[in-house]
Amino acid sequence: MSNLDVNRLSDTLRPVFQAVLDHNPEQNEFHQAVYEVLLTIAPLVEKKPEYADLAIFDRIVEPERQIIFRVPWADDAKRIHVNRGFRVQFNSAIGPYKGGLRFHPSVNLSIIKFLGFEQVFKNALTGLPIGGGKGGSDFDPKGKSDAEIMRFCQSFMAELSRHIGPDTDVPAGDIGVGGREIGYLFGQYKRLANRFDAGVITGKGLDWGGSFARTEATGYGLVYFAEEMLKTRSTSFDGKKVVVSGSGNVAIYASEKAQQLGATVLAVSDSSGYIVDEAGIDLELLKEIKEVRRGRVSDYVEQRTDARFISSGSIWDVPCDIALPCATQNELPLEGAKSLIANGVTLVAEGANMPTTPDAIEALQAAGVAYAPGKASNAGGVATSALEMQQNSGRTQWSFDETDSKLHQIMVNIHHTAIETADEYGVEGDYVAAANLAGFVKVADTMVSYGLI
Ligand code: GLU
Repeated sequence: MSNLDVNRLSDTLRPVFQAVLDHNPEQNEFHQAVYEVLLTIAPLVEKKPEYADLAIFDRIVEPERQIIFRVPWADDAKRIHVNRGFRVQFNSAIGPYKGGLRFHPSVNLSIIKFLGFEQVFKNALTGLPIGGGKGGSDFDPKGKSDAEIMRFCQSFMAELSRHIGPDTDVPAGDIGVGGREIGYLFGQYKRLANRFDAGVITGKGLDWGGSFARTEATGYGLVYFAEEMLKTRSTSFDGKKVVVSGSGNVAIYASEKAQQLGATVLAVSDSSGYIVDEAGIDLELLKEIKEVRRGRVSDYVEQRTDARFISSGSIWDVPCDIALPCATQNELPLEGAKSLIANGVTLVAEGANMPTTPDAIEALQAAGVAYAPGKASNAGGVATSALEMQQNSGRTQWSFDETDSKLHQIMVNIHHTAIETADEYGVEGDYVAAANLAGFVKVADTMVSYGLI
């Protein structure tokens, strides 16, 4: 990536990053994720000399294991297709590998590695005992029949099943993998293993080991975290104008919670464009379009004639107080950040993973916008997955309210950790540095305890 300046890294960390560049050519997203962490953890080089002595920096950027496999499947016309499957088991220092599966045509090793790397620190921040991993496929679920999705998921799991387990590696959903896919994946795992290992995958249906509030958790958790950020500025969601990119699970439930707290959600988007509804997005309609019909946001304006669908331009041009990028990586570039700043945005919190480009983050921070990285603000999804694992171990199921209040407390705790860490390292107001430092120290100290493995 052209805007990753190696010279800004400290003398100890520059060769670590150079080795990442040399060993992983063309993996731009992975480079970006590693660079951001190395740039912000510089204070640890002096504070924790054992990290360099024990090559913790070099070890932590190398996945423990990377699996790439063939996924053959037949479409409804009996034509055979071959996709590529991935599972990157990045770090298991503090618990079994944990992280979602993404099915999207853009998926490649770089994307799965950046997601797996970020997951390591995000999961550490939750305060729960989960390591980091990520997987997926370049399979495109768009336009596929249920039967095709099922056959793909079964073929994918035929190989993945050898590598996962409730105490080894616990996948879940991500882009393109929701309740339907988790059902097909878990059913196939159960058949192959001949065991009802409920804790082998999270995001399950409520009748077969799933957790209440898991569907809502990433979006709700994002808003709980943003609410804590707003409190530090003596304000709240009440009366605020909010723009949310994306229209998947994270975007829908972030919008729902923001509305419950008195905000107006003006806009949401998908890859074809964005819709603006000045009266506030009608979430029942949006859920029906996206979750039931599996349609496009443009369908919304057919039923809400006051709303507009815009297929060109950028959702970040819609004036708002709060922006929640909840679609995908690098969806909020510098121009978008400039436009948000010009229109008076006060807070940006990430629901997606790495949606804001490095130059956009710097612009937002320089303008005094409160900015939260996904590692902290979207950790509610995986945290509730860990709560699902706890329920599975105890063969129990908690109520919605009980689970939601645990989620809320976890997000409050992550925010508290970020504030304390920022204070400790003298980086007040910098949630990026605080999240990276807090997550990194926890994993690195554990790796030190284990010796050289
Ligand atoms: N894919 C989600 C994330 O990015 C959730 C992972 C999980 O629940 O394991 O954190």
